[in-house]
Amino acid sequence: MHSPRPRFRTATRVAIVGAGFSGTLLAINLLEQPDVEVLLIERDRHRMGAGVAYSSTETSHLLNVRAGSMSAFADRPDHFRDWLVARGLGCDAAFVTRATYGRYLRETLADAMARYGRRLKLIDDEVLDLDDRDGEVRLNLVNGGVVEADRAVLAIGNLPPHDPPAIAGTTLPAHRYIADPWATAFEDGLDKRAPVLIVGTGLTAIDVILRLDAHGFEGPITALSRRGLRPHRHIDGLPRPKPVLAKPAPDLSELVRWARDEAQTRDWRLVVDSIRPITQMMWASADAEKRARFLRHLRPFWDVHRHRLAPEVADRIDALVAAGRLHFRAGKIADVTVEPDAIPVSWLPRGGAAPVTTRAARMINCTGPQGDLLRSSDPLVRRLLGTGRIRPDLLRLGLDIDRDGHVIDGSGRASEHVLAIGPMTRGDLWEVVAVPDIRNQVSALARRLVNAHWTGGEGL
Ligand SMILES: Cc1cc2nc3c(=O)[nH]c(=O)nc-3n(C[C@H](O)[C@H](O)[C@H](O)COP(=O)(O)OP(=O)(O)OC[C@H]3O[C@@H](n4cnc5c(N)ncnc54)[C@H](O)[C@@H]3O)c2cc1C
Repeated sequence: MHSPRPRFRTATRVAIVGAGFSGTLLAINLLEQPDVEVLLIERDRHRMGAGVAYSSTETSHLLNVRAGSMSAFADRPDHFRDWLVARGLGCDAAFVTRATYGRYLRETLADAMARYGRRLKLIDDEVLDLDDRDGEVRLNLVNGGVVEADRAVLAIGNLPPHDPPAIAGTTLPAHRYIADPWATAFEDGLDKRAPVLIVGTGLTAIDVILRLDAHGFEGPITALSRRGLRPHRHIDGLPRPKPVLAKPAPDLSELVRWARDEAQTRDWRLVVDSIRPITQMMWASADAEKRARFLRHLRPFWDVHRHRLAPEVADRIDALVAAGRLHFRAGKIADVTVEPDAIPVSWLPRGGAAPVTTRAARMINCTGPQGDLLRSSDPLVRRLLGTGRIRPDLLRLGLDIDRDGHVIDGSGRASEHVLAIGPMTRGDLWEVVAVPDIRNQVSALARRLVNAHWTGGEGL
């Protein structure tokens, strides 16, 4: 029998799984409140404080947002700009390197440690499992240790890309097919003049192309995706979009039509930027069918206009195309075979009848991060899914959560003590991938965690 638990402040001890942008910023936001202890757990020590995006050391990898919009704090919009200016590293309008942004995040975390060090513990380890019962959470670590906390927050970032359908289930040699470019030095052992096939034409593809180029690769690169759309560049001189504050269309389906009509008369980038303030609200009020329709019809256009390239990056990509070293193609992979010196990849051009074969010395999967829990091999995700403590959201974009961020279990019940933030919550918020959106989510959650009071059995 359970004895009634005493009434006390919630979240005195918060364990955060993952120290990328989301987890690190949640830790800092929490530490700024009194009486909170934070355990920040990261499995890859090179990513501690910076995560996947900002631990890149490539100087060709630039932020795709101007510095002026990249403050880590929603209530201190000049924080990053001031940090840059104080070090002579840039100004408001600059597109600085992701490595510089990683340094900013790590220094901001180090400042928090200097100020509140007693209440922050950094743990180099991987969380393998967690158990949410009797008013607390126990997190089991790979090294056999156990961490106990009042709340656990999953800030685990995106899941690795899925294999394209034509490849799934086949066994391709590891030096010919790179399944996850974030997990591998994909240029290692590659003949500098050999042909490369990149599957995907979005931001991951651009990153990979820039890194190949920076490492002296001179061979032909084909970048292939269904539509062949590549991210657009930021353009100086476009009028600032007037934010649309009232709904321009009654629901998400109509918004798709509205956006397409608007794009006939003005730049797509302006259309997408103008509806940013209301996208989360319209997504929240749409049912699963309307959300699915939005994803089907607008997402490919949305992604390439919403997540754009710094002008320097776009210039480099254009130069590679002009030099005939890089080709963007629209089509679908039909078949892949293995030969001793290459993998011939047969693909069907969009709208074409006859397949084309590209013989690639290496094929790199740049289809981008994923969120489908059911296809994940991540040990923690599999464990939590297997024991019914999490479930995918309806569109399989990530974790199912309630409006306060608690994960929903397999029977549809919200966990009292386990929450989630960051891109894996995009099923709930949609726009929660870039820094300006995540920082809002994180500061709201930190306030809720600290301010809520509870008695046993009641969540925040
Ligand atoms: C290449 C790239 C470039 C981007 N550029 C920009 C940009 O210029 N501007 C912008 O606004 N946004 C950008 N974004 C988007 C945005 O900044 C990221 O989505 C954001 O950084 C996500 O951070 P995160 O902490 O949620 O995830 P991640 O950075 O993926 O961090 C998650 C961390 O959790 C750890 N982890 C996972 N599971 C466990 C476990 N079981 N135990 C312990 N640790 C675990 C991982 O090792 C990882 O370090 C970019 C994203 C990418 C991928």
